[in-house]
Amino acid sequence: MNLKVTLLPGDGIGPEVTEAAVKVMQHTADKYDIQLELREELFGGCAYDKHGTPLTEQTLAACRESNAVFLGAVGGNQWDGLPQHLKPEAGLLKLRRELGLYANVRPARVFSSFVQSSSLKNEVVRDVDFVVMRELTGGIYFGAPRGVEADKGWNTMSYERHEVERIARKAFELARDRRGRVTSVDKANVLEVSQFWRNIVREVSRDYPSVALSHMYVDNAAMQIVRDPKQFDVILTSNLFGDILSDIAGMITGSLGMLPSASIGHSHALFEPVHGSAPDIAGKNIANPIAAISSVGMMFEHLFQMSKAAQVIERAIDNTLQQGYRTADIARPGDRVLSTTEMTSHILEQCEDLYNTEAIRVFTL
Ligand code: NAD
Repeated sequence: MNLKVTLLPGDGIGPEVTEAAVKVMQHTADKYDIQLELREELFGGCAYDKHGTPLTEQTLAACRESNAVFLGAVGGNQWDGLPQHLKPEAGLLKLRRELGLYANVRPARVFSSFVQSSSLKNEVVRDVDFVVMRELTGGIYFGAPRGVEADKGWNTMSYERHEVERIARKAFELARDRRGRVTSVDKANVLEVSQFWRNIVREVSRDYPSVALSHMYVDNAAMQIVRDPKQFDVILTSNLFGDILSDIAGMITGSLGMLPSASIGHSHALFEPVHGSAPDIAGKNIANPIAAISSVGMMFEHLFQMSKAAQVIERAIDNTLQQGYRTADIARPGDRVLSTTEMTSHILEQCEDLYNTEAIRVFTL
């Protein structure tokens, strides 16, 4: 079996965390006899510096030709003054649109070794395990008309039937393989577009009788994630609401350096850590590689339904943290503070140990 991955290390700490991710990718591929074909392309600020655009045709073509794209991070102060369409972040929006990545998946779960570090009480966060499924290519970020004048600014939140249907299906399919609950989050008491969203989600739910659907207003959802996050299994929501709720969900469970994500379309998928390019710590070999490594787990799970490979990676991270190894961003007094490369080596050792135990059997695809 072949797996073609286009690597977009990007800017700042992007290349450092991508290097960590690649080591775990290669290790996992070797275990399952997968031939990994890696191709690296410029993307973001570094692509602008060389080619005058954050996303070149060559990079886009490479992404289209691969089974998966892995992105480190893009951006930095030196590109902040560029016109909007040439900024590294504009390249990312364009890439998501061009690849049709309409579903953004952000898991919110707490490593047992990390319960103490949450900003919420231990009993509230222990065993939290839910996913925010955010619509990524529609809604108010893309709607027309939009504009700004001296005395007025405006945007449009609109959704078409097919946009709601496809993201709802993704959420129900995911919930079917999990604990069978979808909470659709909207603002249907005020917004017509949310009433439409709710109707379509209800229609789609009829095709998934084993999944229980409930609806929640977004303001209440924000409170409930902080009050009792264990009630959720899959949260299904639109682009704007998902942007905010996924950050709230991420923060109750860990630090920015530990949150993975997947963006999925009909024929393409992109995996990336949630964090940005962290220019303040770039080039120092101190970035936390866990978000990037965890995104590799999501990649194997999504592409090959290899939940076992993903579990090995997650357990390897948890074991490493339990042994008191931390990068500087998450270190507590008494922890052993490791560099990016040292942390990656420890996680790899733990992966190897897990594959060698009886409990985790390696299987070939
Ligand atoms: P950021 O996520 O880069 O950094 C915020 C803070 O978290 C910084 O103090 C940073 O040092 C720390 N941090 C982030 N990731 C870390 C890691 N893996 N290990 C240890 N510490 C980590 O957010 P920002 O400072 O607002 O943005 C910096 C640049 O990144 C901007 O240009 C922004 O536009 C861009 N950005 C890119 C993406 C992306 O590529 N997907 C996402 C968010 C921000």
